[in-house]
Amino acid sequence: MDLFEDDKRLFLRPVLAFAECLMAAFADGPCGCIRCKDGDGSQSGYAYLHTVEIAGRVLNRRFAISTYSDVRGALAKAWESFYKTVLPEGGRADMNAIAAFVQGPAARRIEVALYAAGVVADVDGVPHFVSGEV
Ligand SMILES: [Zn+2]
Repeated sequence: MDLFEDDKRLFLRPVLAFAECLMAAFADGPCGCIRCKDGDGSQSGYAYLHTVEIAGRVLNRRFAISTYSDVRGALAKAWESFYKTVLPEGGRADMNAIAAFVQGPAARRIEVALYAAGVVADVDGVPHFVSGEV
């Protein structure tokens, strides 16, 4: 495939929507919820982190719009339009293949967002897709 074709696919609507999903999943600054305030920002015992650091910036996860199905759904649509194949249900997650269609600042958020939403989890230290039964 030539470069021109590559470029065109990066502007497909679902591909851009996935980048938007990654950007929207985190807002600036530490989490300000009562639990975090009471704990002085300590996240020990949290099943899911409220505050994350990405590329040196402290961000808080917007849970309401970054659930498993939000992120998995956006990823699946982007993957399908970019590769013309269905996103694997499970098995090894090719993070480079995902990174191939995410441009700009959203690219730095891929891993954190996919792990945070439980779309990807490590199995024996290797990222794997987590299938839908959550
Ligand atoms: Zn919080």
